[in-house]
Amino acid sequence: MEYISVAIDGPAGAGKSSVSKAAAKKLGFVYIDTGAMYRSVALYAAENGIDAASEQDKLISELNNIDIEIRYFDDAQHVFLNGRDVSEEIRGSEISAGASAVAVIPAVRKKLVALQQEMAKKHSVIMDGRDICSYVLPKAQIKIFLTASVDSRAERRYKEMTEKGIECDFETLKKEIEARDKNDSERAEAPLRQAPDAVLLDTTELSFDESVKAVLKLVEEV
Ligand code: C5P
Repeated sequence: MEYISVAIDGPAGAGKSSVSKAAAKKLGFVYIDTGAMYRSVALYAAENGIDAASEQDKLISELNNIDIEIRYFDDAQHVFLNGRDVSEEIRGSEISAGASAVAVIPAVRKKLVALQQEMAKKHSVIMDGRDICSYVLPKAQIKIFLTASVDSRAERRYKEMTEKGIECDFETLKKEIEARDKNDSERAEAPLRQAPDAVLLDTTELSFDESVKAVLKLVEEV
């Protein structure tokens, strides 16, 4: 049987994961959040006193000790770092910045990309990240670059965090998003950019439901 792959790239906070998750549920596909894998490597670095930006070699020498596994239960993706469910722990701002730092390291990307490609061989998937269309799943039947303005991305992140009871400051969140955009787009290895054959989906003016519908429409058109 031929599996279908939907590849979705885009900048931080564009709503890729919530939109992809909802679309995957409707389609009966497996949703794979690749950012969670980079975040887990960043958590490992933080917990082991490794500064990912200045101690890349140290982190590379530890890669064989970092086991990342994706499991599905309770209707959600859970990411396990060395057997421990870290799905919640990896969501903080510090880990976001750490993930962006570990993601520039080619050896880290090689390890995680292999894992991601393996998963897409076994299921129909919606996979989101930064380099999925161009690099991880270049043969994906559907490719989408999902984005939104920096302001609306910061607003959504602000709302999401305040709803969870996490105190935050809008301007700080906006700066963090801009810093991550810059880091992700300017890196040498698999930089964030729209693949030439990806469809641009700008959700600045779209509601969540409209964004999900737009993704489903693109899948149905194939
Ligand atoms: O998507 P999320 O915000 O969770 O990703 C965290 C970080 O992981 C991104 O800022 C990016 O640096 C990195 N990443 C990546 N390639 C992917 C997914 C995430 O470089 N496919």
